Amino acid sequence: MKNSDSLITHWREVLAEIASIRQQTESQQNVQLIAVSKTFPVSDIATLYQAGQRDFGENYIQEFSDKTSMLSEYDIVWHMIGHIQSNKSRIVAERAQWVHTIDREKIARRLNEQRPEHLPPLNVCIEINIAAETNKHGISANSMELLKLASFINTLPRLKLRGLMCVAKANSTKTELLQQFGMMQTLFQHLHHSGFAVDVLSMGMSADMHTAIASGATHVRIGSAIFGQRHYTQTKND
Ligand SMILES: *Cc1c(COP(=O)(O)O)cnc(C)c1O
Repeated sequence: MKNSDSLITHWREVLAEIASIRQQTESQQNVQLIAVSKTFPVSDIATLYQAGQRDFGENYIQEFSDKTSMLSEYDIVWHMIGHIQSNKSRIVAERAQWVHTIDREKIARRLNEQRPEHLPPLNVCIEINIAAETNKHGISANSMELLKLASFINTLPRLKLRGLMCVAKANSTKTELLQQFGMMQTLFQHLHHSGFAVDVLSMGMSADMHTAIASGATHVRIGSAIFGQRHYTQTKND
């Protein structure tokens, strides 16, 4: 098989898997696949685009900048899913449609200031450090802290708060995953009941997609199951 054929095959398998999980779990919500293309070449993105994939996720600012330049003719929906240093937020405000990793007022304020007037408001999710890991970004899973940041975002006209995002702890057992994603669902409902018009739960990666969808995920971010193993050579420290 040509490389592009196997890429499309894997992508189709992931789409079929999502459909099958939705059936098995009788999930009510639609599930959007975000193809996480970090470390993979623009040719892979172009291949999947031609096959019909529109939503792509990137983590590192320099790589995001390079790829969005090279693919500017494509009407790709770009999702920034990596941590954003505030001195690098401008390119994201200008080129992304989504940011999943809002974890402090400062980054929200800057993205709001830098979002160009001719574009619709930037869709954002608040990142939750759901397993309280010291090496992870995100606010803690605390409803007071969450409501405070959500209220702040709602004062910013160039941002649109869509929901919550998390990365589950690596190597969690099924039970631990159910706990983490269940807490996400609880926080999401709390936000909803507090009057926020949120509709997105961004959770689930290649290894934990099943449990995430069963727990109400609306957006899964899938990298290796589509593109294969990643080899970090460049742009990692961005
Ligand atoms: C890399 C990454 C993914 C995709 O992970 P896979 O295990 O390759 O599916 C999803 N979300 C975030 C935030 C990531 O950094």
